[in-house]
Amino acid sequence: GCGSGRDDSSASGTGSSGDSGAAAEGFEQGSLIGVALPAKTSENWVLAGDLFSQGLQEAGFEGDVQYAAASGTVADQQGQISSMVTKGAKVIVIGAADGGQLTTQVEQAKAAGATVIAYDRLILNTEGVDYYVAYDNFNVGELQGQALLEGMKAQKPEGPWTIELFSGSPDDANSQVFFDGAMSVLQPAIDAGDVVVGSGQTEIEQTATQGWKPENAQSRMDSLLTSTYGDKELDGVLSPNDTLARAIITSVKGAGKPIPVVTGQDSEVESVKSIVAGEQYSTINKDTRALVEQTVSMVTALSTGEEPEVNDTESYDNGVKTVPAYLLPPLIVTKDNVVEAYANDPNLAPLTKG
Ligand code: BGC
Repeated sequence: GCGSGRDDSSASGTGSSGDSGAAAEGFEQGSLIGVALPAKTSENWVLAGDLFSQGLQEAGFEGDVQYAAASGTVADQQGQISSMVTKGAKVIVIGAADGGQLTTQVEQAKAAGATVIAYDRLILNTEGVDYYVAYDNFNVGELQGQALLEGMKAQKPEGPWTIELFSGSPDDANSQVFFDGAMSVLQPAIDAGDVVVGSGQTEIEQTATQGWKPENAQSRMDSLLTSTYGDKELDGVLSPNDTLARAIITSVKGAGKPIPVVTGQDSEVESVKSIVAGEQYSTINKDTRALVEQTVSMVTALSTGEEPEVNDTESYDNGVKTVPAYLLPPLIVTKDNVVEAYANDPNLAPLTKG
């Protein structure tokens, strides 16, 4: 790691408030609120944009929701944030395209008196981030690691089990945290000899998926199958999200091998279908509606001059400060609980019913 991301310390109790001293004055209804989102690398980002536009309007603000382009994402997002500052946004909500490349823009926003909320992904190496709102990323990784072990045990009761590890894009601060959470569960099993990483590739750098692009995961899986699994069995794959899980499954099918236990994250439509069909083993439900709602309620609190509620003031060190956070709990989903898990989700519930 680079010394930033999640600290391995426990969260504080709920209800404490941040200490940014931000926005004690509040601001008017109708004020401009900027929302700068990364490229649409997974469905959650597409949903978030729609929900922010709608939610900010309903809360009485003028939302300006922008996505970084699929190519040249960093420069694009930097420009979008600067222009939100120029237009006088009171709050800028940022889903970072590259968590380490926004220092200048975040500091511009602060200098102009705006409050900066990091949404889903932490922004690194700047004092200017006031709040962080996300699902508990370390717990996401832990749940993935547990699901992988349980799924393999269900498929093949006796170990040792052979696995491969995949992680997300190195420019997303979440990638390290997801991986650390998963390894906190898998490393003891590896040390005990119950689990073997077939290729020996256990360093995060070796497992990374640049840009969260499925084609990158698919081609790495193709190479692993050729180099390591000529006649060896692959029991499981740690995949950090659904987009990559499906790419990994496509690769395995293409090679004519049995599908291993593959984890995921995001509850994407195609992955929920795949779980119901018995192919992808697990996903994580991080309901985007709840995360956007939480963020909009932070904006509303700021507008009335209140400190937004946070429930974690210890876990997210961005390299120069510990960012006060509001963390929501992620939920693991397998075929066993898929019906209950999405019972309240009008888009996903129909997919889980026979
Ligand atoms: C989000 C994940 C998502 C990934 C790729 C991460 O920062 O937390 O939910 O799968 O980005 O878009």
